[in-house]
Amino acid sequence: MWSANQRRRSLGERLFRIAETVERIESRPAELTHGAKALLAYIGSLLRQVDSTVDDRWNELAVIEPGLREELRRELCDDFRDVVGVLVSEVVPVLVGADARRVPVELEPALRQSVLSAAPDWKPVPVLYGSDYYEYSIVPLRKSELEVPVTGRPVPSSAAEGGDMESPPDFVFISVPGVERDSVALHAVLLGHEAGHLRDWYLRLSEGFVLDVPPQLVDSDGKPGEGYGEYVKIATNWTEECVADILSCLTIGPVALLALPEVAGGAGELAVDSDSHPGTDRRIELMLRVLHQQGFDVVSGLTEAFSGYKTLCGDAWKRIVQGPDLNQQIASLVLAWIRTQLDELIRVCTSNVPASDLFTSDYWPLVESAASMLGGGLPCGEIILAGRSRAAARPEVILNASWLVKVQGLQALGQQLGVVLTEDSHISDVSRVSEVLDRLTLKSFEIAEFLRSA
Ligand SMILES: [Zn+2]
Repeated sequence: MWSANQRRRSLGERLFRIAETVERIESRPAELTHGAKALLAYIGSLLRQVDSTVDDRWNELAVIEPGLREELRRELCDDFRDVVGVLVSEVVPVLVGADARRVPVELEPALRQSVLSAAPDWKPVPVLYGSDYYEYSIVPLRKSELEVPVTGRPVPSSAAEGGDMESPPDFVFISVPGVERDSVALHAVLLGHEAGHLRDWYLRLSEGFVLDVPPQLVDSDGKPGEGYGEYVKIATNWTEECVADILSCLTIGPVALLALPEVAGGAGELAVDSDSHPGTDRRIELMLRVLHQQGFDVVSGLTEAFSGYKTLCGDAWKRIVQGPDLNQQIASLVLAWIRTQLDELIRVCTSNVPASDLFTSDYWPLVESAASMLGGGLPCGEIILAGRSRAAARPEVILNASWLVKVQGLQALGQQLGVVLTEDSHISDVSRVSEVLDRLTLKSFEIAEFLRSA
C-alpha cells in the first residue's frame, strides 16, 4: 500500500512542477495580459499556502500513535490531491496559453468591459488564453473550490451540487483558437457569444426554462424513465447555446451572426446537430430573428448577406435532427420542445438586457463611417461624429465595421494596397487584403482604448 510518505513526496513533486511553471511565466511580465497577471499572483500565493499547510499539519500529527498518524497523514495528502488535479488540468493550460504572443491582447480591455456588463456584481477577472483546440469557450473558476483543504471550510453547497452558478466565479477562463490569434474579426464571438454565456449564468435565464417530461419518456408508473437524463442534458445545452446566441445579437449586433458560420462551420456542414449545440443553420435562423427585431435586416450593406442566410437557413428549425454522434430519438424530442420556445427565449433575453448594453440599428451610421475609414486603409478607433466632434469608437462599432468591409468584398481596401480584387482573384490576394484589415481593426481597438483611458 502506498504510504503517507510516498503520497507526500508525489504531492510535493507536482506542486514543485506547478510552481516552476508559474515562476517561468512570472519572469516575463511584459508578455502577460492583465488577466494572466491576476491569475498568476493568485496561484503563486495559493501554492505557498498549500505548501505551508501541508507541512504544518504533517508535523502536528507527529505526536500521534503511529497507526492513526499514518492514516491521518494519508488523508491529509488525499485532501490536497484534488487541488493539484484542478491546478494541473484546468489552471496550468490557461496560464501557459495566456502568453501575450498567443492571444489578441488588443481586445483585452473590450473583453473586460463585456464581462463587467454581463455580470456587474460578480466582477470576475477574465483570463484570455490561446487554446490548442480550434474553439472558443468560457469556463468559470471559483477560489473556494481550490481552497477547501487550505481554509478547512466546507465546499459551498452550490458547488457540491455540480457546479451551478450560485456562488460567483472569481475568474473566467476564455479561450481563443491559438492559430487565429490575429483574426480579430472572428473574436467577435468572445464579446458576443461567450460573454452571453456569462450573462446567462448571472441572470439565470436559461435555467428558468422548465422542461416538461415528454410523454414518450414517462414510465408505466408515471415517472421519468430511461432516456430522460439524456433528454435533460441535450435540452439544457441547446437552451444555453440559444440564449448565448440571442444575447450575442442583442449586445454586439450583426457581427454575432456574420462571425458564427466561420468559427462553427469551419469544422464542417451547417446542418449538423450535436449533444452540445443545435446545428449552425438553426443558430443562424434564430439570430436572423433577433437581428430583424433589432432593425438590422434593412440596414445598408447587409441585405444581401442576410437574404442569403435566410434562403439557406430559413427552414432550419423544420428539418429533422441529424448528426453522427447524437441519440436521434432523444434529440428529436428536444427539437420538438425547443422550437416552440424560441420566441419566448428571445422575449426573455431582450427584456433582461439593459438599454445601455443593447446594440441596435441606431448605431449603424457610425458603423458605416468607421467602415469607410477601414476601407480607405485607416484605423477607425476614433470616430468623427456630427458637428465634427470626435469620440472613441465602441468595440461593437469597430467589429461591425470590419465585417462590413469584409462582406462588401474588400475591393476598396484592396485598391489602397494596389490589389485589384474580383470574383476570380487568387485566394492569396484576398487573404493578403484580409490580413491588412485585421491589423487595421486591431489598431482601431488600441486607439479607441487609448482615447478612452486618456
Ligand atoms: Zn456556447
